[in-house]
Amino acid sequence: MKDKIVVALGGNALGKTPKEQHELVKGTAVPIVDLIAAGHEVVLAHGNGPQVGMINLAMETASVSDAGTPEMPFPECGAMSQGYIGYHLQNAIREELLNRGMDVPVATVVTQVIVDKNDPAFTNPTKPIGSFYSKEEADELSAKKGYNMVEDAGRGYRRVVPSPRPIDVAEKATVKALVDNNHVVITVGGGGIPVVKEGNKLVGVPAVIDKDFASAKIAEILDADYLIILTAVEKVAINFGKENEKWLSKLDFAETEQYIKEGHFAPGSMLPKIEAALGFAKSKSGRKSLITSLEKAKEGIEGITGTLITQ
Ligand code: ADP
Ligand code: MG
Repeated sequence: MKDKIVVALGGNALGKTPKEQHELVKGTAVPIVDLIAAGHEVVLAHGNGPQVGMINLAMETASVSDAGTPEMPFPECGAMSQGYIGYHLQNAIREELLNRGMDVPVATVVTQVIVDKNDPAFTNPTKPIGSFYSKEEADELSAKKGYNMVEDAGRGYRRVVPSPRPIDVAEKATVKALVDNNHVVITVGGGGIPVVKEGNKLVGVPAVIDKDFASAKIAEILDADYLIILTAVEKVAINFGKENEKWLSKLDFAETEQYIKEGHFAPGSMLPKIEAALGFAKSKSGRKSLITSLEKAKEGIEGITGTLITQ
């Protein structure tokens, strides 16, 4: 069966530096083009935590140290990250398609995602962005720059910013028109540029929408069949990292809700994936979500591995 698939790419699909990303996306393009070659309609979304953190820190450092560099507002940093990540992805996917004799147009849409200005996330920042730091470095950054720093899933300290929920996608009609005309579209990059509605204005806000929720939102809007979240782990686990860790192949709605309640999924990393995957699968009968690794994407879609969330 040919499906409409929204694929959400995690940090490991893009790496940590522009140079690393340029190399990595060549590999990232392979499972994406596998899906297109199999006849599926593919829409791509991706994260931008490390990238937007890097751009923001670089612009901020430059604006204090060098008189000529202006301050770059955070939403603009998000837009910059959509631009260069989209550029790398569309460049690599185009090449992979051409190498297989497929002439399919690929384009990135700079995408604004509407959030609620009263979202409680604005008073409780949770989204990790940028690099990982030691405790000492983290303390220094929060003293110097006023960043909120938290420990991220046992991997070190990171800056956190508000992560409001996506309500709607401003460019949805454009994305839909392109998808309906067989274009491969890269959209809601980094979860989208977060904007709030003020009359006819869309005003950018300093936050990062979780790309997992934004991907689920655009998947619903496009009436997709399948949401595939590609990350660093092949499957989702309960008791993750503990002696009694258990990797899961299939989850129904009740089990997923139970495991969320029991706290098996780390906030800011696996929890948003699970919630987004569950939300999309529940949104209409027949929809399903898969969480697996980039390397195992092909086997995941064939039902061989990954964690499938469905009724
Ligand atoms: P991405 O960049 O793909 O969004 P994240 O780092 O945000 O990736 O989330 C994936 C990470 O979540 C995994 O690499 C793993 O370390 C962590 N994780 C937390 N809880 C779980 C769990 N219950 N099962 C699997 N992985 C988990
Ligand atoms: Mg993440």
